[in-house]
Amino acid sequence: MKIENNQYVIDGIPVLSLVEKYGTPLYIYETARMEAQYRKLLKAFPGSNTRIYYACKALTNINILRFFRKLGAGLDAVSIQEVQLSLMAGFDPKDILYTPNCVSMEEIDKAVDLGVGINIDNISILEQFGHKYGKNVPVCIRINPHIMAGANHKISTGHIDSKFGISIYQLPHVERIIQTNNMVVEGLHMHTGSDILDVEVFLRGIEILLETARNFKGLKFIDIGSGFKVPYKPDDIYTDIEQFGKGLSERFNRFCHDYGSDLTLIFEPGKFLVSEAGYFVARVNILKQTLATMFAGLDTGMNHMIRPMFYDAYHQIINISKPEGKTRIYTVVGYICETDTFGWNRKITEISEGDYLAFLNAGAYCFAMASNYNSRFKPAEVLIHRKKDYLVRQRETIEDLTKNQIVIEDIF
Ligand SMILES: *Cc1c(COP(=O)(O)O)cnc(C)c1O
Repeated sequence: MKIENNQYVIDGIPVLSLVEKYGTPLYIYETARMEAQYRKLLKAFPGSNTRIYYACKALTNINILRFFRKLGAGLDAVSIQEVQLSLMAGFDPKDILYTPNCVSMEEIDKAVDLGVGINIDNISILEQFGHKYGKNVPVCIRINPHIMAGANHKISTGHIDSKFGISIYQLPHVERIIQTNNMVVEGLHMHTGSDILDVEVFLRGIEILLETARNFKGLKFIDIGSGFKVPYKPDDIYTDIEQFGKGLSERFNRFCHDYGSDLTLIFEPGKFLVSEAGYFVARVNILKQTLATMFAGLDTGMNHMIRPMFYDAYHQIINISKPEGKTRIYTVVGYICETDTFGWNRKITEISEGDYLAFLNAGAYCFAMASNYNSRFKPAEVLIHRKKDYLVRQRETIEDLTKNQIVIEDIF
């Protein structure tokens, strides 16, 4: 989103025209930005046999999945429903890696039936899988290298207390299960959580993964997950992809040479690909001056964007109705009957009731976590592709809220 002729535009389209056309609250995504991020990541790994699997839990609109398939991406799914959506979007089962956590063996059986890659993250399932499928269905194993890559405990998954992955200290046990059941391990995986602040720490995790990989024969790929941090504030720290790419490519190529085979290097970013490509726009219903604070109250709430309340996430907020002018300090809140603050003490160009505010970085984990709390409708989603806008999800209606409810007529 940028200012052209004193108005905010996305890929040439005035944002206020979208608001007029589709109403608010509204999610807007731009494919140009997703594609730029995709290419940037691929370019950072020259010479390597690199593939990017889109971690679709960040944003699962089927058009977004189709777009990434068209770019040539694979897909990372964490539930059987995400697998089903990806197949509906036209992904080849071979390009889907299913990485669930704490699911039942029944769900894993379904994924096997659908022909997708299976990533196993605990000993119990590894054993059951081995008994059942032996050498007939290859697996990938999710390793927990026990590194603490980011600062936010809620989204960090590699630390010692994490429920994710099989601990590197349990490798002897893993090897015993593999050998006893003649299992075929085709990949090793790690995903140490979101928000990698320190590339060095991440590289140490990869070092551990590659060390581990030496113990497995016949690997086809190494999947180092994701966690690339994107800037949420203008001066924010983010993962330096170029620096990271250089360090990792060298290391990975050396590993392949020693291992004696050209393995594929897989990344599975969600946030990196879609966060900055998304915007969330809402209307200011009410300005409320209390003794201490000036509140701007929106026609949306944490039901539509929970990240600020859930993770203390910071989303930049701008007044798209006033691209320029003096700023004042506002606390931006939602309409949910519970404290739902989007941003405290934000400097925003002077707001009038009826103005439209836009949240940046609203592509990842925003609509995907939306709910109907307070019996509100989920917002509409619009996709901008090659300077044209498409409605890709309509706003819900009262029928959506009631369609699965069963009224028992004769008891009340
Ligand atoms: C969530 C998740 C990702 C994506 O993480 P981002 O921080 O959005 O890039 C990748 N792999 C797995 C297994 C995940 O659960």
